[in-house]
Amino acid sequence: MRVTRSQIVLRGLSNECPNCGSHTLFKAGTRFTINPRCGACGLSIDRGDGFFLGAFVVNYTVTVLVFVVPAMVLYVSGVLGLTTAAVVAGAGALFVPVLLYRCSWSWWLMGYFLFLPQKLPNNRTELAEDREE
Ligand SMILES: [Zn+2]
Repeated sequence: MRVTRSQIVLRGLSNECPNCGSHTLFKAGTRFTINPRCGACGLSIDRGDGFFLGAFVVNYTVTVLVFVVPAMVLYVSGVLGLTTAAVVAGAGALFVPVLLYRCSWSWWLMGYFLFLPQKLPNNRTELAEDREE
């Protein structure tokens, strides 16, 4: 494979296109508008109906596991009072997803192509060349 799984992970962690490594996941000058395709290699980033749900699940999971649950645990263990824990958890539930929006798209694409690396255009070409031999 031309694009290895380790490259997919590194590109996913640095918000790069999993196929070519360009910073083209989002439209230039915007914070929340995903490109339908990579401007450098043509990889389909928004892959159709419901694909965005993967990024949504990644964002929700990270927010709950890293922010909301720890606030609840701190309340149950007596470190935080109820009001403080509720405010911290509520504020986290509102603002952390906004902050993680770009990362959640990149992490979702990383997970998707980590399990299906043959779907990357750079890897498909190599497979087609293998069949010709
Ligand atoms: Zn690309």
